[in-house]
Amino acid sequence: MITIDTEKITKILSDTAYVRKPGTKQELACADHICSLCGEMGLEAKKEPFKVRMYERVASFLKVDGKEYPCKGIMGSGNGRACAPLYLLESADDVSLSRCCGKIVLSYKQVGAALYEKLCKCGAVGYIVFNGSVTRDDRDIDEKRIGFETDMHIPGVCIHLKDVLEVVRADGKYAELCNEYREYEGYSQNIVLDLQGNCDETVVIIAHYDTTEYSHGAYDNMSGCIALLHLAEYFSEHRHERNIRLVWCGAEEVGLIGSRAYCRDHKRELEKVSLCINLDLLGCVMGNFVSFSCIDETMESFLADFAKHSSFPGTVTYGIRSSDSNSFIECGVPTVSFARYPVGDTAISHTRYDTAECVDKDVLMRDIEYIAKFADHAANAPDFPKVREISVKIKQEVEKYMSGKLGLL
Ligand SMILES: [Zn+2]
Repeated sequence: MITIDTEKITKILSDTAYVRKPGTKQELACADHICSLCGEMGLEAKKEPFKVRMYERVASFLKVDGKEYPCKGIMGSGNGRACAPLYLLESADDVSLSRCCGKIVLSYKQVGAALYEKLCKCGAVGYIVFNGSVTRDDRDIDEKRIGFETDMHIPGVCIHLKDVLEVVRADGKYAELCNEYREYEGYSQNIVLDLQGNCDETVVIIAHYDTTEYSHGAYDNMSGCIALLHLAEYFSEHRHERNIRLVWCGAEEVGLIGSRAYCRDHKRELEKVSLCINLDLLGCVMGNFVSFSCIDETMESFLADFAKHSSFPGTVTYGIRSSDSNSFIECGVPTVSFARYPVGDTAISHTRYDTAECVDKDVLMRDIEYIAKFADHAANAPDFPKVREISVKIKQEVEKYMSGKLGLL
């Protein structure tokens, strides 16, 4: 009997309504909770720990023209202080970049790997980024960390957009920033559940369960985790030719660390993975369902036909997204991904507004049932997917993403 229904969804969302940052005891508590939910279904899930880099903030401040603004140091950026005139980097063109030397740069654009390196190379001594909205009530400042390896280091801080409105008036004035932190090793864990099939191929279905600071992560991504629980029940009762492996991934929000660890630790098994299905962001109240083919155009048209024959509304995209799917694609595993993206700000990931309110239980149930239908096909159809060679376009997109050039984190 399938026990995941709208009532159970409400219960799970309420039981997991807490922040579960990677490497914390709350994340571990959520992992244990998922294991016990599997246990209630009579299924045994196992935790697989992996290392995750942790940071402890020691000191951070920002003063501009004598006034102090609330900020958080960007972990992994320069560990130290900077004093210099403020420069507003409106766009990352060569003219603007040539004016960054010896300045603390307030960047209007998110600073990914490429821009970070440019700032270092052009002699900026510090940088400021921001998050948030001027129309929403909060003044939450994100905990940002550098999501790429680099030898160059300048200290950076993040402030709230509401303060940016004032800081920009001090263009050219003296600024002082401090970002001091301590690094240490922590642990996160993936949760793995196996359902034995009748051949040596495996369909791996994944969803991350960690969150960013402030977020209860109902939409991002307990929704996907609940879908995995449903699939666990579904495949324990329905025939599946291929093996099914369900993986609830930890530490996605700090650079896909859990899925990368999984792919590293299970490298040899990956050759036998016929398909990876990634579930991230489902069931939002007002949204558009999107199927991602991260293989090639053959899978793109298959996904479109499958939706049509199932009378399931949605769009299909041939491309990658910022999620755990990229770790598998990077290892050559044919991958598809599903999401329901919100209209406007009806659901906002990575903020305090990502609560159970963002998720409509009926919509989530419909998404889950559609995904189960697709997963059933992936588990049983002979010779599926037909094309398993990942296209050059997808390979290039993932390479660019993984090197941080798409501005991860
Ligand atoms: Zn997510």
